[in-house]
Amino acid sequence: MGGMGDLVGFNFITRLASSLDGVLFPRRCGACRAPLADDCGVFGLCGACMGIFAQKPEHSCAVCAAAIDGEVADAGITTCGRCRIKPPPFDDAFYGMRYEGPARELIHRFKFNGAFRLAKTVSAPLCAELFSRPAAREADLVAPTPLHWRRNYERGYNQSYLVAMEVGKALSKPVEAEALLRVKHTKPQFQLSAAERDKNIKGAFSAPRPEKLAGKTILLVDDIMTTGSTVAEAARALKRAGAAKVMVAAAARA
Ligand SMILES: [Zn+2]
Ligand SMILES: [Zn+2]
Repeated sequence: MGGMGDLVGFNFITRLASSLDGVLFPRRCGACRAPLADDCGVFGLCGACMGIFAQKPEHSCAVCAAAIDGEVADAGITTCGRCRIKPPPFDDAFYGMRYEGPARELIHRFKFNGAFRLAKTVSAPLCAELFSRPAAREADLVAPTPLHWRRNYERGYNQSYLVAMEVGKALSKPVEAEALLRVKHTKPQFQLSAAERDKNIKGAFSAPRPEKLAGKTILLVDDIMTTGSTVAEAARALKRAGAAKVMVAAAARA
């Protein structure tokens, strides 16, 4: 009798302790786990990680923000090879961190445990970047890249929505959570090649309320931008619904 009660009590205390982690114990950097000084890390990142995340390649594509090499840039070319061959349906792209090193660790922790606790931390470099870009500050609204309801149900949350909420707060812009719906249950993109990704994601999104998007400049938020297939397809749906301009904002970019 008492045994069962003890077990339940023990589980409860373990859960409570892990949810209070960070309150009871010294706070640690969300990326590298270094202890945070009391006076630093409002966003849960240490100065060293913030410094790493702020580093951007010297030259990057004017459309998709992929790194381009110096020789290409010196020749006066401002876009990457992929965008020149097939211009994407979005107009600009911003990101907070390169998806490598401590950023990769941070994103993984965000995706697989502690999404709510880490949303602010994961979004901080992106919010700082957007805030410094006049183009981004001209957006009318923020739209997250949606998950299919089935995956949303399995996870219990959409991590892009959590990032979008932080972006909305930072820029004082409305977040239109249902600007897009995912109408197709697709295979996870990371399992696929670049060509397969385009095919897999095709037709995955619909914009159910075009009257809210017509003529608007939209910041389309995703957690990780890799090849850009997903955000391209989402941007296409927004443009079909009448959006004037779509800018991609990713917490991390490969
Ligand atoms: Zn750190
Ligand atoms: Zn590009």
